[in-house]
Amino acid sequence: MWGDLAYDYLPVSTERRSQVLHPFAIPCMQGVLALNVTRGCAHACVYCYARAYPEAPPRGQLFVYENLPARLEAELARMRRLPRAVSLCTATDPFQPFPSLLSVTYQAAEMLLRRGITVTFLTKGFIPEEFIALFARFQDLVRARIGLLSLDPGYHRTFEPGTAPPEVRLGNLRRLRAAGIAAGIRHDPVIPGVTDKPEALDRLFAALRKEGITSVDVGYLYIRPGIAQLLRDELPPAVARPLLSQFRSGPIEEVAASSHTQLLPPEIRVRSFFKIREAAREHGIVPILCRCKNPDMRADRCQGSRDLAYPVPRRRVRQLSLPLR
Ligand code: SF4
Repeated sequence: MWGDLAYDYLPVSTERRSQVLHPFAIPCMQGVLALNVTRGCAHACVYCYARAYPEAPPRGQLFVYENLPARLEAELARMRRLPRAVSLCTATDPFQPFPSLLSVTYQAAEMLLRRGITVTFLTKGFIPEEFIALFARFQDLVRARIGLLSLDPGYHRTFEPGTAPPEVRLGNLRRLRAAGIAAGIRHDPVIPGVTDKPEALDRLFAALRKEGITSVDVGYLYIRPGIAQLLRDELPPAVARPLLSQFRSGPIEEVAASSHTQLLPPEIRVRSFFKIREAAREHGIVPILCRCKNPDMRADRCQGSRDLAYPVPRRRVRQLSLPLR
């Protein structure tokens, strides 16, 4: 275990009363259903949109839906047509280091895979060996994404205090790929001036290339009132103030289920993306700017959604459009 903060959380068992499977709010994931094994997330990333929901439990509280496997089984049995793919956890992390939570994640994943349903997930935690063994048995049905922005321990402590350290996440990637499982990197949310310094990018991309990575999906930090409040509350003021000031004059757009999402001004994102592209290219890596999170720009469909092979309607660019190629 790691992430000092994870020890402040005592997971509490709770009952899931509502529907377990629900539609994914991200446009490129249309047709994919999602489920969440907990309410709350001990990884406690300071920029987390899920922690910023008014109904999200405060930092330190974590509720594990221990009846989720039974409810999932009943829901799947009632379905006339099974979903093609299910995302494990869109508002929490499926691999937080608590045995009760990991047991629920395991049972849910196994149930889906045994029925031939593709399982996709994004994690900043450690993936235990028994999951790698499970996923290896159903290689063709698993699409893994590892969230990784920086190898810098200072960034990790400040912005993602309860997550697994970067080298552990690189280890996930190595073990998944060695077991023949499709695993890629989500480089999101980039924080201009913090995570996109050339030397840090160079180190990161060198490490990723060593693991065989040739493309990364890139997203940028966005804010809503709750996220801005988390940043103010949980970051040192000397970090939060300049970070939030970058949003001045940033467009308000519809991202995921919220039409009141403030993005960084396009020129900041473009400048930053050029830096990322330059550093990535040095190591033979192609960065893909995620279009769901940059609806005002000429961005692309990220590799994570392409791996699921769903056709996606092209959204019309409504705002300023800056060429990225
Ligand atoms: S791991 Fe994901 S869900 Fe958990 S706090 Fe971080 S961003 Fe939020």
